[in-house]
Amino acid sequence: MKYCLGLDIGGTKTSIALADSNGTPIVKDSFSTEPKLGAESLVERIKGAYTGLCLKLDITKEQVAFAGVACPGPLDIKRGMIVHIATMGFRNVPIKAMLEKALEMPVHLENDANCAALAESVIGEGKGLDPLVYVTISTGIGSGIIADGKILSGACSSAGELGHLTVEPDGRECPCGKKGCLELYSSGTAIAKDGTAVRGVATETKEVFELARRGDEKLRGIIDNAADKLGLALSSVYHLIDPEVIVLGGSVTKDYADFAEKLEIAMSEYTQPVEGRKINIKISKFQGEQVLLGALIYALQNEK
Ligand SMILES: [Zn+2]
Repeated sequence: MKYCLGLDIGGTKTSIALADSNGTPIVKDSFSTEPKLGAESLVERIKGAYTGLCLKLDITKEQVAFAGVACPGPLDIKRGMIVHIATMGFRNVPIKAMLEKALEMPVHLENDANCAALAESVIGEGKGLDPLVYVTISTGIGSGIIADGKILSGACSSAGELGHLTVEPDGRECPCGKKGCLELYSSGTAIAKDGTAVRGVATETKEVFELARRGDEKLRGIIDNAADKLGLALSSVYHLIDPEVIVLGGSVTKDYADFAEKLEIAMSEYTQPVEGRKINIKISKFQGEQVLLGALIYALQNEK
């Protein structure tokens, strides 16, 4: 039997799994990414973890056919490069070639949100629904588009950059160089920042939700504004893609019940009605493993 390798390189944690020929993980491991040690160090540690998993499963490296690798973007998929990940300090890293050399197997590289979208489309909440748009709302906001069962990557591998859709012209300044990006209003980081500004003490995202539930009107206003901006962005997704489903994932969606109503109002207000269309928003049931599973599915699709 042939095996395949899945990798989810995250800003904080890197997850690795050896999977069977259907892409179902058999043995898994994870370690702290520590990007400040550099890309070479990361590849070395990935190689070490891979060796460990082969020993654990009692297989030789010759039995592992290929790898699917998910990584934050922006990436240049055609060249197999990490273009620039500001939060990790990586710029122009030829990650595909580095991993192929270290692991001695073909590597299929894709953006993490795109991999998550693919997992939702094949084995998750969006199974059988196409086109599908997956939106992750966590520290930042990212998204992936699946059309005809495949990732829509775009001309420059940068399709689905929903976090940087302008929702307020001349709004807050974004590190991307623009103003008024969605991420600055509706991400976990934005909610925490707004909560901190209102309360005058350091406040985490989950505290904003908790205190709003207990009746804090000002914090409720922050959540309502985040939901309204998200609704505005998702209405653009509807106008442009006409998805059969939008799947929301990421840590902030744990508190989805608290912004569902406002999001629904915003979407009906901003989205042009189309006969027969029902806005279909689902919450991911995965517990964070969708990126790794999607990387494996992506590799299998490409090897066929
Ligand atoms: Zn931006």
